[in-house]
Amino acid sequence: MAEAARRLLAEGRDVISLSEGELDFDTPLHIQQAAIAGIQQGHTRYTNVGGTPQLKAAIVRKFRQDNGLHYDSTQVMAATGAKQLLFNAMLATIDAGDEAIMVAPYWVSYSEMVRIAGGEPVVLTTGSANGFKLTPKMLSGAITPRTRWLVLNSPCNPSGALYTADELRALADVLRGHPRVLVISDDIYEEIVFDGVFQSFAQASPDMIDRTLTVNGVSKAFAMTGWRLGYAGGPAWLIKALELLQSQSTSNPSAVSQVAATAALEGPRDFLDTWRSRLRGRRDLAVELLAAASPMLRVDTPPAAFYLCADCAGAIRMRTPEGRTIDSDADLAHYLLHSAGVACVPGSAFGLASYLRFAYAVSEDRLQTACERIVTACGRLVQA
Ligand code: PLP
Repeated sequence: MAEAARRLLAEGRDVISLSEGELDFDTPLHIQQAAIAGIQQGHTRYTNVGGTPQLKAAIVRKFRQDNGLHYDSTQVMAATGAKQLLFNAMLATIDAGDEAIMVAPYWVSYSEMVRIAGGEPVVLTTGSANGFKLTPKMLSGAITPRTRWLVLNSPCNPSGALYTADELRALADVLRGHPRVLVISDDIYEEIVFDGVFQSFAQASPDMIDRTLTVNGVSKAFAMTGWRLGYAGGPAWLIKALELLQSQSTSNPSAVSQVAATAALEGPRDFLDTWRSRLRGRRDLAVELLAAASPMLRVDTPPAAFYLCADCAGAIRMRTPEGRTIDSDADLAHYLLHSAGVACVPGSAFGLASYLRFAYAVSEDRLQTACERIVTACGRLVQA
């Protein structure tokens, strides 16, 4: 959808994209300056595959100070985005037919990464009624002798679900009876929390640290998506395997990005309060404006991340002014793109049909215009 939006923009169409999973803020100045100085100081060459000693030390410190997770330098690494770590984790551990449990709605790439590695995604579908969260009962019913991974993502893209420490502990209770199952704690939205407190999985259940891969990165916390720098902590055997895979594919992540990420992790974070308060304002603005699109769209207020997951079941089977029937969330997303000039992503891409995901990390006036257009376009739908 993001590409379709860009294509229409290139044709001169007025399109507002609410499809991109990135902040519209600039990378903070002190990080930019550290990177420029890094280039000038010659940080332009190959580094250790899993990251420079400086970056690894910053990652060790970050996990200890922010999350109470105690890793040493053999238990952390950096890569070209959190995405590469997740992908390599699947490649390194999944044998043909192994299963990875994920919670729908889930980030689009999880299922495909598992498939590429020869495994089977096992999708547990949640709904807005329980805040899009996995329950211990659902988890215990899904584990089989082939289960290799449980993939957790809190705050969640796209639902914004945020698990409490108690909820994570209840999931850990189930896993204690299944020692073969590893856990991914994808914490990439850690800093984008409005209501509630972030907890990493192994932080809530410290005995799980030996079988948890804690994945994070600078993309969302520091507005650094284009720098492509993610990092992880986990058991030394797994980190070694991921570094081995990385050494035969992409080698080290960009040396300049490593300098920038070190500055990000070690530098001030006061700007985050301003960012969060602006994002919270946008979230509330979008929820308030989109309420006028009910019953075609129903939107709850998510506690975290920068997405709204709108239930669009009320628009299915409606007809557009051009006479086309909306048969699916994808049809509705297509209609909104072409008739309202707003791009969003259909929930079916996240394993959750009849939803749309709106990313609200765009300027307040663009967001307001986009929401007004969506409401108008929904108002034009008629019963088929
Ligand atoms: N995990 C989730 C849930 C995401 O939404 C994203 C990016 O959108 C990533 C991981 C990948 O982040 P990175 O930019 O570090 O590769």
